[in-house]
Amino acid sequence: MQFEVTILGSNGAIPAFNRHPTSQVVTYNGSNYLIDCGEGTQLQMSKYAIKRGKLDHIFISHLHGDHYFGLIGLLTSFNLNYRTADLHLYGPTGLDEIMNVHFKYAETKLKYTIVFHELKADEPRIIFENRYFSVETIILKHRLPTTGFLFREKQPLRRIITEKIAEYGIPQLTIFDIKHGADFTTEDGRSIPNVELTREPNLPRSYAYCSDTIYHEAIIPQLNGIDLLYHESTFVDEHADRATETFHSTAKQAATIAKKAGAQKLLLGHFSARYEDLGMILNESRTVFSNSHLAIEGETFPVDIRKIDSI
Ligand SMILES: [Zn+2]
Ligand SMILES: [Zn+2]
Repeated sequence: MQFEVTILGSNGAIPAFNRHPTSQVVTYNGSNYLIDCGEGTQLQMSKYAIKRGKLDHIFISHLHGDHYFGLIGLLTSFNLNYRTADLHLYGPTGLDEIMNVHFKYAETKLKYTIVFHELKADEPRIIFENRYFSVETIILKHRLPTTGFLFREKQPLRRIITEKIAEYGIPQLTIFDIKHGADFTTEDGRSIPNVELTREPNLPRSYAYCSDTIYHEAIIPQLNGIDLLYHESTFVDEHADRATETFHSTAKQAATIAKKAGAQKLLLGHFSARYEDLGMILNESRTVFSNSHLAIEGETFPVDIRKIDSI
């Protein structure tokens, strides 16, 4: 099943060096889930061929503008494009009010409904769930109430061995049951046990988005064993004091969280506008956690499948 993250914006507060404020898209099985919507998000979506029509859920981490200044534009475009489907918006207290004030004074009557889900930054909660995965909040420590988002896949189904389909003449309609663990009875009445027809399922995968936050070890237990972790890394070590003052993290601190959580892979982002070259950010992170990568705009990072025999 497709499960990947495309970076639309990777900078902190100010756009700089062709980097945009924060935004990214999680794509799961063809559906898009937008996380944060900084200024320029719509243009970035067009540039990287992210379809607006396949977007029904938007998650906003907090009310600093670099995480939502693109939202009024995007919601307005939905309206101009005659959207009628409900749009689910998840965000802190006040986000709906900010949007509504704009629509009121712009005399905009929306043709679709925004279903607002108010997020509380007190304890982690499951805020979305479908048959494949759930999304839970991560309580971050920043200057405003801030939540990260953890996409946690449910237990995948068993994997059918394709040669067995022809060998036993298994009809298409029965495959779903077999993936759920059912045995199969052939036309001549032989019962074939499920273990002969299937392999162990893959491990459920997970993706965590942590922005913005000071170094905050309290999130580590929730992130335990995470496959892909995005953690803000606004500053290099030299500016660690500035990170603490502004409730942000350094690259090394992001890497320490990844290491302590037993993450498979780390994505670094929310870069300060003071750095044109991001080499230092990457290098410092890799001294602590080798599988670190920069969240480069336009790049897509798959949440890799891990087979049960790989642990
Ligand atoms: Zn920010
Ligand atoms: Zn912030």
